[in-house]
Amino acid sequence: MRGFRYFLPLLLTLGLFVGFATAQNKKGKKEKAPPKKEFYSGQPIKALIITGGCCHNYLYQTFALGSGVQKVANVDFEVMNVGGKGTEAQIDLYDDPEWAKGYDVVIHNECFANTADPEYIRKITDAHKGGTPALVIHCAMHTYRATEIDDWRQFLGVTSRKHDHQSNYEVKVEKADHPVMAGFPKDWVTPMDELYIIEKVEPTNTVLATSVSEKDGKAHPVIWANEFEGTRVMGTTYGHSDETFGDETFIRMLARGIIWAAGKDGEAHPPQ
Ligand SMILES: [Zn+2]
Repeated sequence: MRGFRYFLPLLLTLGLFVGFATAQNKKGKKEKAPPKKEFYSGQPIKALIITGGCCHNYLYQTFALGSGVQKVANVDFEVMNVGGKGTEAQIDLYDDPEWAKGYDVVIHNECFANTADPEYIRKITDAHKGGTPALVIHCAMHTYRATEIDDWRQFLGVTSRKHDHQSNYEVKVEKADHPVMAGFPKDWVTPMDELYIIEKVEPTNTVLATSVSEKDGKAHPVIWANEFEGTRVMGTTYGHSDETFGDETFIRMLARGIIWAAGKDGEAHPPQ
């Protein structure tokens, strides 16, 4: 397999921290509970990040995502950086029909627009159908753009084939009471990022936030919550730039998305 697989380096840091805390506790009479995290402190959510392909700085994005989320939620990350830096790849992870088993959520942050093989794509969507929940970020929406089948687009909850120029886009919250949008500011403006043009929203999809195109004046979904054959899929089309992944509002929204997709929103605090 081209690419590499690793556990997020931050886990090492975290492990050292926990080890240190435990050693200190041995001097006391009682073991202390693990430190409470702002959003979620329950059993660790097991997340697999699949990343790679064209046009973005996936090493940085993965680190920023993982370390940012771990500040506020108890999530363990495993990372597969695969497929090189082109627009077409087939990775052998998906040859195993049970590739997504054992994970509470799979995060798709990859960019392979010209991969079009229906049989390959269905190996991915079949594992999510009634199965493992997902987050889909930015170029995941243009991944498999070249294919004629709609399975991936139904999984995503949207169809998009192009994007507007980079700009600072205002984000309008459409469903403030949805768990993914808990605490999301009403006046957030993105760092420099691309606005994806959404052609179609699946009937199973709930649009949570929109931004207006500076070209045609239309509002396009930018954050949503899809139900794909009984499986939760949270999506956002933002996430082009390093600046966006360095933005606290963006990362905290993704953390809420992971908690919701994994079905842990009832254990979040405050309850989502
Ligand atoms: Zn991009």
